Amino acid sequence: MPLEFSHTTLGQRVLFGAGQAASRLAEEVQRLGAQRIMLIASASKRELAQRVAAEIDVVVNYDNVVMHVPIEVAQDARQVARKNAVDLLICVGGGSTTGLAKAIALETRLPIIAVPTTYSGSEATNVWGLTEAARKTTGIDDVVLPTTVIYDAELTMSLPVELSVASGLNGMAHCIDAMWGPHANPINQALAAEGISALATGLPAIVQDSQDLAGREQLLYGAYLSAVAFTSAGSGLHHKICHVLGGTYNLPHAQTHATVLAYVLAFNMDAAPDARDRIAKALGADDALEGLQQLRAQLGAPDKLTDYGFTEADIVEAVKIILPAVPASNPRPVTAENLTELLQAALVGDDPAVLLESPASGPHTL
Ligand code: NAD
Repeated sequence: MPLEFSHTTLGQRVLFGAGQAASRLAEEVQRLGAQRIMLIASASKRELAQRVAAEIDVVVNYDNVVMHVPIEVAQDARQVARKNAVDLLICVGGGSTTGLAKAIALETRLPIIAVPTTYSGSEATNVWGLTEAARKTTGIDDVVLPTTVIYDAELTMSLPVELSVASGLNGMAHCIDAMWGPHANPINQALAAEGISALATGLPAIVQDSQDLAGREQLLYGAYLSAVAFTSAGSGLHHKICHVLGGTYNLPHAQTHATVLAYVLAFNMDAAPDARDRIAKALGADDALEGLQQLRAQLGAPDKLTDYGFTEADIVEAVKIILPAVPASNPRPVTAENLTELLQAALVGDDPAVLLESPASGPHTL
């Protein structure tokens, strides 16, 4: 096949090192010449954030972090930033905290240093999200891309195993969707494959021992790669589905991704044999779906949407909202009928193999 594609690499500095967040942050603040810092962290992460910010001066702390960034919260936080003449935003936390920093930057154009404590990967994308009147809007703007990301696996030790599994599989979903996103190319596919391997190494390690630092490092590394691959490839079918489930039905972000992932993989993979083979290889499996399902079984991964508040009665409306957003480039044509089947299977935790185009390859149960 001829190599013909376009690819954009986003400019961002990434600093990696366990136990080094505080010193790295101080160096970075100095490098950027920032004087008036706004530290964003939820109330429950205040102590963690203060440890990270121990070597710098902060002019204002902001802790009103709410998942999916309600517009009212964003407006309040922007006002606080302006009132305090802030010149740098530092966020310490998961995707919700990073999301708030991005919402402030979207209007104020302030730079961000992100210190992530989950594997959502938001820190490495130029995607912002805001929720207004129960509808989540997302957009792309380089101004929200954090200038610097500081990864310190010690900060993720306290993330409960169940949430770590869901969050790591959220990263895996970025990788798998990047294989067939609208701008998929060999560069983001290579990053996604490396991300799958890192996540598939780290997840079982931390399920066995939640304090396994090397496992946690693999997860942060995988989370970063997954986000870079995803932001470059663009939202594919998986993200279009999860965006609606989270934004309209308020399903929890990471758990929703962790559940839907197997269904989208089964749905698309036979129509994208190259992606399917890369995913299998990255998982160290003969078959992509079998490899993913074995990993999910080993992890005790989330497996049905009924556990998170989605109901049979929601499916018709959800299909209507998702369908127009599905990229025309999705490897397998998506119709109201087959999307309904996909959501029905994910709702109750059916074997994803029922969605295969050529369903002859044996059981894939979780
Ligand atoms: P989150 O940030 O909402 O965190 C989930 C829970 O984990 C919270 O209760 C939080 O306090 C807790 N937590 C976080 N770190 C912890 C730690 N180290 N120890 C103990 N508890 C910890 O969840 P998330 O999955 O990281 O992010 C979800 C949000 O991020 C969603 O709104 C999603 O849309 C957004 N997101 C955006 C992008 C993007 O590119 N813009 C990418 C991924 C996710």
